[in-house]
Amino acid sequence: AKHLVAVVGRPNVGKSTFVNRIAQADDAIVHSMRGVTRDRSYHEADWNGESFTLIDTGGIEMGDEDAFQTSIRNQAFTAANECDVILFVVDGKTGINADDEEVARSLRKANVPVLLVVNKIDDPNNLDSIYEFYNLGLGDPWPVSALHGTGTGDLLDETVKLL
Ligand code: GDP
Ligand code: MG
Repeated sequence: AKHLVAVVGRPNVGKSTFVNRIAQADDAIVHSMRGVTRDRSYHEADWNGESFTLIDTGGIEMGDEDAFQTSIRNQAFTAANECDVILFVVDGKTGINADDEEVARSLRKANVPVLLVVNKIDDPNNLDSIYEFYNLGLGDPWPVSALHGTGTGDLLDETVKLL
């Protein structure tokens, strides 16, 4: 197995914060392949003795529709072609928006397992905001705070089971 874990989701949900918390420091390799993978970085990580590579995707800035569509296509490309597990990150503070629904639509067709990560759950005792994410049709939401590190252990336990 390649042991590649892709982290996808719309801008500002906390993908990079999450990846930087999980990965070993300072070893990012940025790949750029014109027209296909414009902006993505690979980070080595391990959990419970399992080594894997986290792919932080979609650093493309919002601002024009074409850039966003390109970013969504890149995420679908990653899902279909490259990784073993997809972590789909959404924002528990803002809730679901149309962009999340678009990413979810492409991920429901992916041939690899998808874990739905609800980030910015900074108070692990207040899980009320995670339930709406069942509507994305991607199974149980995994609440985390990339900022504080809460919830990431359970999520990584599940992730390495799927590698
Ligand atoms: P990306 O665009 O998906 O890579 O998102 P970033 O990692 O750049 O984060 C976007 C913003 O969300 C930044 O201001 C982060 O500090 C903030 N953020 C990320 N994770 C959390 C979290 O768990 N809780 C809170 N409150 N803010 C977060
Ligand atoms: Mg980022």
